[in-house]
Amino acid sequence: MNPVGKPGKAGSLLAVEVALARLLEMAEASKIRERERLPLARIQGRVLADDLISTLDLPPWPNSAMDGYALRLADWTGEPLEVSQKIFAGNAPQPLEPGTCARIFTGAPVPAGADCVEMQENAEVLADERIRFAEIMTPGQNIRPQGQETTVGELILSAGTRLGPIEQGLAASLGCAELDVVRKVRVAVLSTGDELVEPGQTLGPGQIYNSNRVLLCSWLQRLGCEVIDAGILPDDLVTTRARLGELKDVDLILSTGGVSVGEADFLGIALREEGELTLWKLAIKPGKPLTVGHFRGVPVIGLPGNPASTLVTFALLARPYLLRRQGVKEVEPLKIQVPAGFVWPKAGNRREYLRGRLESGRAIIYKNQSSGVLRSAAWADGLVEVLEGRTLTEGDCVGFIPLSEVLS
Ligand code: AMP
Ligand code: MG
Repeated sequence: MNPVGKPGKAGSLLAVEVALARLLEMAEASKIRERERLPLARIQGRVLADDLISTLDLPPWPNSAMDGYALRLADWTGEPLEVSQKIFAGNAPQPLEPGTCARIFTGAPVPAGADCVEMQENAEVLADERIRFAEIMTPGQNIRPQGQETTVGELILSAGTRLGPIEQGLAASLGCAELDVVRKVRVAVLSTGDELVEPGQTLGPGQIYNSNRVLLCSWLQRLGCEVIDAGILPDDLVTTRARLGELKDVDLILSTGGVSVGEADFLGIALREEGELTLWKLAIKPGKPLTVGHFRGVPVIGLPGNPASTLVTFALLARPYLLRRQGVKEVEPLKIQVPAGFVWPKAGNRREYLRGRLESGRAIIYKNQSSGVLRSAAWADGLVEVLEGRTLTEGDCVGFIPLSEVLS
């Protein structure tokens, strides 16, 4: 870490992956250990606390994949067979009478003794109600064997898995009514700056509306965090100290703005006085300055204030940090390689995350990539990664991180 005022090697920037690795290490060291048991319907967006091990075979018995007829292949000589029972899903069948077949429907248990299901389209019902099978049949056809999906004792979901509709469905299929999940991370969101005014109020001279607050609060909720909306912190040291002091029972203070090396750096002063502050200069654009530290032991991450910088640094650094604190293993978003549909003639010394979208399989970028322009991200459906030191011509490969990957 480079303490403020001692940037290490002159002008050196911290690589994004190094910053991420450090943040993840910090998150790992302060992982949330508490857990709570919740009904299945309420685990959406939460993180599984223990491995989920199957206590069932799925399916619990062989069942039919088709509407048709179950038979024992050895009984079939080419002559029509009599129907000895009818089995619907939910029925408990009798063993198959030798020399007969059973009418069977999708999902119904295959009777003991049967080793094949023929679909009804390949069977002819004769006038005397016997069944003639026309096609050659093979053992096991159209039967879903017991334990095809899962057997007792198998690991189904690992601790640290984020839970969504699919995991909820899977747990339900195993009969789980409740699961232990990691307690929510409590995150206090602070906006800083005298210029900020909440939407709904009238703008005075020099004022702008606070957009980061709602953006972060709602994003954090999507990530399964408990959000403490700590409002706007004015550019004033006494208030800053007092307000930070109120945020005791939280796992993270997440602030935006206010920790540039400028004169209005009151958050920075308060952290240095009663905690620790390191200011990272990241090789990332938008979003160079990132604050990491603590206030009286409560971890603090300070994101840059420009809305597009807030978005990019939250997506790439704060989000993985918060997920890891909940014990999630896979915290980095999916990144695909796509051809660039734009040119990038001038190599930069920072890794750029351009707000872009895919058009005919190529990444194109919003016309204005200023860090103050949030509209670029609303237009975009992904972050286009241009590595430091790179120039691009159309068709060159670039990384593309879908926004849908990081927004939840
Ligand atoms: P700062 O890091 O405080 O110097 O802020 C950098 C830029 O981001 C300035 O133009 C601020 O006005 C702007 N900014 C800071 N916080 C917010 C916010 N919560 N919403 C919108 N813009 C902000
Ligand atoms: Mg400010």
